[in-house]
Amino acid sequence: MTLQTANKSTQPASEVLLGKSLPELTEWVQQQGQPAYRGKQLYQWLYQKGARSLTEISVFPKRWREELADYPLGRSTINYRSIAADETRKYLLRLADGAIVETVGIPTAKRLTVCVSSQVGCPMACDFCATGKGEFVRNLQTHEIVDQVLTVQEDFQQRVSNVVFMGMGEPLMNLSPTVAAVKSLNQDVGIGQRSLTVSTVGIPGKIVELAQHKLQIVFAVSLHAPNQQLRQQLIPSAKHYPLDTILADCREYVRVTGRRVTFEYILLSGVNDLPEHALELANLLRGFQTHVNLIPYNPISEVDYQRPDRYRIEEFERILQEHKIAVSVRYSRGLSADAACGQLRASRI
Ligand code: SAH
Repeated sequence: MTLQTANKSTQPASEVLLGKSLPELTEWVQQQGQPAYRGKQLYQWLYQKGARSLTEISVFPKRWREELADYPLGRSTINYRSIAADETRKYLLRLADGAIVETVGIPTAKRLTVCVSSQVGCPMACDFCATGKGEFVRNLQTHEIVDQVLTVQEDFQQRVSNVVFMGMGEPLMNLSPTVAAVKSLNQDVGIGQRSLTVSTVGIPGKIVELAQHKLQIVFAVSLHAPNQQLRQQLIPSAKHYPLDTILADCREYVRVTGRRVTFEYILLSGVNDLPEHALELANLLRGFQTHVNLIPYNPISEVDYQRPDRYRIEEFERILQEHKIAVSVRYSRGLSADAACGQLRASRI
């Protein structure tokens, strides 16, 4: 695992305004010699009106706006957008340093969900995931995560109801900005914590560390295999984090936060989708306060895994149900635009 690479590539937090709380923005306007109430105005323009430049903020004095015309707010630009047959939109966003990151907007009848990235690329190299086949570039900063949500909100002209940290990257390798982004999305953008999902493949020590923040988010762990041997085959980093330790840490997470843990399980035909795997998974999770999401594999070009047929998927689901495990099958959206789970990479520009 490339923990060192990730640390080395962490960017210093730059002085941008997005991601700052109301008290922080108030302090900033005061440092600029403005009255405190301008902090509230700035806050509303940043998070509610989606301002991209201080010159847009018409309630500010003209002279001050002109002085601050080039001050960075922390917004990205849309470099490319594609729309899938099911209306899912995939974006490639260009960040201040030129890095490109992917974000997906997923509309349904009642919701608009954004799938955000937490890193540019990903160091985890899971065998079935396109992001891991590319290069890991760097961690995202808090404002670069919040910006993704505001960008999708603006593009759809609709309020975002849910955010899942299931785009590029491993959120728990970028824990502080991830937690700060969760808090900003909740307090500043106004999305309920229970409508925010953080998904991880598991980083030693970090599940317990996340628990200490006592967030009320949905916490999902990408399990993908019912035993250590198979998991290690699919997820190279699993070597450093045995399955029984992950499960012990998840139990601790449930104890500290009072929230259940969701397990994600990708279904790969003939690899981890057999009835004996379902049975083994049911035994592994017995007595655990959990929900299992089965994700039928979305094809990527580098490997020749197959998605199981419907019968196999339903049988796997049925076996878990028989063992009293709450389970859903999640067909990813956005397949036709390569915007589905595991298909994100920054190469299609
Ligand atoms: N690094 C985090 C979040 C990103 S992946 C994690 O691993 O959880 C979000 C989900 O998509 C994970 O459960 C991941 O395993 C799944 N996924 C990856 N590649 C996939 C593919 N080709 N088809 C379906 N799901 C995939």
